[in-house]
Amino acid sequence: MKLIFERGEEGQGLSLMPACDVPVVKPQSGYAREDKLNLPHVSENELSRHYSELGKAVHGVNDGFYPLGSCTMKYNPKINEAVAALPGFTGVHPLQPEETAQGCLEVLYDTEKALAEISGMDSVTLQPAAGAHGEFTGLMLIKSYLRFKGEKERVKIIVPDSAHGTNPASAAMCGFEIVNIPSAPDGCVDLEALKNAVGKDTAGLMLTNPNTVGVFDKNILEITKIVHDAGGLCYYDGANLNAVMGVVRPGDMGFDCIHFNLHKTFSTPHGGGGPGSGPVGCKAFLADFLPGVRVKKDAEGKLHASKSPKSFGNVKAFGGNFLVVVRALAYILTLGKEGIPEAAKNAVLNANYMQACLKEDFDLAYNVHCMHEFVLTLDRLHRETGVSALDLAKGLLDNGIHPPTMYFPLIVHEALMIEPTETEPKETLDEAIAVFKQLKKLAYENPQALHDAPTKTPVRRLDDVKAARTPVLKYKFQ
Ligand SMILES: *Cc1c(COP(=O)(O)O)cnc(C)c1O
Repeated sequence: MKLIFERGEEGQGLSLMPACDVPVVKPQSGYAREDKLNLPHVSENELSRHYSELGKAVHGVNDGFYPLGSCTMKYNPKINEAVAALPGFTGVHPLQPEETAQGCLEVLYDTEKALAEISGMDSVTLQPAAGAHGEFTGLMLIKSYLRFKGEKERVKIIVPDSAHGTNPASAAMCGFEIVNIPSAPDGCVDLEALKNAVGKDTAGLMLTNPNTVGVFDKNILEITKIVHDAGGLCYYDGANLNAVMGVVRPGDMGFDCIHFNLHKTFSTPHGGGGPGSGPVGCKAFLADFLPGVRVKKDAEGKLHASKSPKSFGNVKAFGGNFLVVVRALAYILTLGKEGIPEAAKNAVLNANYMQACLKEDFDLAYNVHCMHEFVLTLDRLHRETGVSALDLAKGLLDNGIHPPTMYFPLIVHEALMIEPTETEPKETLDEAIAVFKQLKKLAYENPQALHDAPTKTPVRRLDDVKAARTPVLKYKFQ
């Protein structure tokens, strides 16, 4: 497809901007642009077609099934968008006097309260912009607390081998050493390995529960106790909160701090690099170290934002990605106390339904009741037919289905990690199950067809290493 700069021609264009009605002032020489500003010259009609064409070249939740494990690609109710687009929210300035922004402060205050309640934490910062950013923030909290207590020798963060790659990366960014521990055969934390790993140098443990193989760790209370008894803290990677929200709370499992992925669990469109939000919640003893300002209510009900003197600083400007927070609050209030656990339970039900139907044809990495997602291993299919998890994923694309997460977690060979989410009806699940089964049959009958897939997409197989290593991010004008 053509880029916007390759469409239209000089002289065409939109005339929506009113003529300038103030004197034109040119900046001093040296500060002014010398060459012509290259802007596209297209009519409104062409512009509109350009965006429609772009929309057709990608696959989003609004186009079809998107079972991308661990990413919770659920449908995002349009009412959240409508609320986030209200001028009172889009037009506010962070340096506006507090008394003129009470409504926006109330959004921050209420969201903090709701997230604290859902997670079993006491305080929340809304500043971090993503899950990984939240991990960094949570680990900085742990570091600040240990420094405050003078426990400088605690420099190690324990991370199980099933963890998301961001966990060890965030810990390294914070200057911690990483101790990797293997998972037990059932995918849960190996208690003996954990007991051997903790010691006087343990700063903490990072864990997601349910974990990345979709299993709720039955020993969770013992795990957090082992770490606490050794003097370490427990960090909850909340990316999988969609499976348990309103049902069980990380705070009650023994965790000291947590991040939320508002763009996953609390319904903001994501996946295209748009703004996210990764608030961090913590127990009261860590709250003074939180970054940014806290919103507090005075005796007259007026809201004020202030920063604790012990705060370790800022991780983002002002209140973070505010409009994502607005969407999350709209979502939480729409679902309410009954709807939140219902969403979690339906997410688990949908995943178990798909798992039960697919296990007739595919091998499960862990043959247990799953939570919101489950992992298939295509190891046997690969050995018998030469068709890999990647080939099957490409075959799904030709059937209008976004592939599941592939080759993750790293401990499973030829992994496909499927997370249907609660927002898909049984009809969609049944259609997807039929496609999976049909592709498996095809793998035995005509494996080449799957090596050649996809054939119906705007582009075929891309060189993803080249795309990651040498991306072309700038348009070169002639
Ligand atoms: C998505 C995810 C993260 C990172 O979150 P981002 O918002 O993508 O930075 C961390 N852990 C797990 C288990 C995840 O699925």
